[in-house]
Amino acid sequence: MNDQARQIVVLGSTGSIGTNALQVIAASGGKLHACGLTAHHQLDRLQEQAKVHAPKWIVASDADMATACDWKSLPPGTELLIGEKGIRQLVGEPSVDIVLSAIVGSAGLMGTWDALQAGKTVALANKETLVMAGSLMTSLAAERGGKIVPVDSEHSAIFQLLQDRGCQDVKRLILTASGGPFREWTRDQLKQVTVEDALAHPTWEMGPKITVDSATMMNKALEIIEARWLFDIPVEQIDVVIHPQSLAHSLVEYRDGSTLAQLSPPDMKLPIQYALSYPERWEGPADQLDWSSPFTLDFIPPDPDRFPALEVGRQVARQGGTAGAVLNAANESAVAEFLEGRLEFIQIVPACRSVLEQHNFEPEPSLDRLVQLDQWARQEIKKWISQ
Ligand code: MG
Repeated sequence: MNDQARQIVVLGSTGSIGTNALQVIAASGGKLHACGLTAHHQLDRLQEQAKVHAPKWIVASDADMATACDWKSLPPGTELLIGEKGIRQLVGEPSVDIVLSAIVGSAGLMGTWDALQAGKTVALANKETLVMAGSLMTSLAAERGGKIVPVDSEHSAIFQLLQDRGCQDVKRLILTASGGPFREWTRDQLKQVTVEDALAHPTWEMGPKITVDSATMMNKALEIIEARWLFDIPVEQIDVVIHPQSLAHSLVEYRDGSTLAQLSPPDMKLPIQYALSYPERWEGPADQLDWSSPFTLDFIPPDPDRFPALEVGRQVARQGGTAGAVLNAANESAVAEFLEGRLEFIQIVPACRSVLEQHNFEPEPSLDRLVQLDQWARQEIKKWISQ
């Protein structure tokens, strides 16, 4: 290991982003070292990763599972930490340079918060953090001297296109969306969607929750909210365009009429690597475009009637306050119910909208209040289904 290696903590190392990140780190030729890994349930896999990457620390965040696990193949130089306390200790270690926040869903909130509290640079793959608590997170980063660098492919594209100049000359940010597997389905067809249909994404390989979000386009709704906070830009200046090939990861339209795009194959290793190498660019394991064969790029405006999630996302981005946390939790719960066969695909967005309409909006909530509302919104989804 190189002495100058950037020391990386991967929160959620056994998930889809986490395993891609470890490939990027392994291919960095010693420029990056995984000094800390965390997992919730896949503890055998975590232990396997520890053998390969020799981190200084690992965290098993579920204390019961950690106690039940046999840790005898853990490398001797790796210290085992347990529970949320373990995550807090890990992200605060002085030697840590970048915390990659890749825990899926609202479970990723606290680790990101703790890392920003410690003044770290956070490579943020967990969009829920900004959806739930964008205002608090960005203020905390500014206050503690930390930085949030996006890993979400669309936001990474915009981050690359803005080149540290912020949004001063920007007319619009244009988020691209693959449109998911149901891009061309009619409303009647959407009523018949099965779990299997929803999990068959045409271009990206991802975990089940985000794959369903991509099919409802709730993923893009959450990304509108994420972009609003990340780039500090009004929602009126954020647009969405369907781009089925998933090669242009987003576009920035400047006030002089010039539109810039960032292109690369759909491979998360590139945005992960850029967040870890920033502001440098390195060779890496991500797929590259093949310019020797012809290909086309299509851009199609989204149909708001078939994909009502987009308008919900815009409203929530405009409102701020408690709305993001409620939408995020309602959606997570609704997607889980859909995957369990208790809610129809086409009901996911109406269920979320109903919970949003019922909640008592607060413009400047605390983090504790957001966590309470997260629990409340999940219960409301269950009630909505049982009615
Ligand atoms: Mg994305």
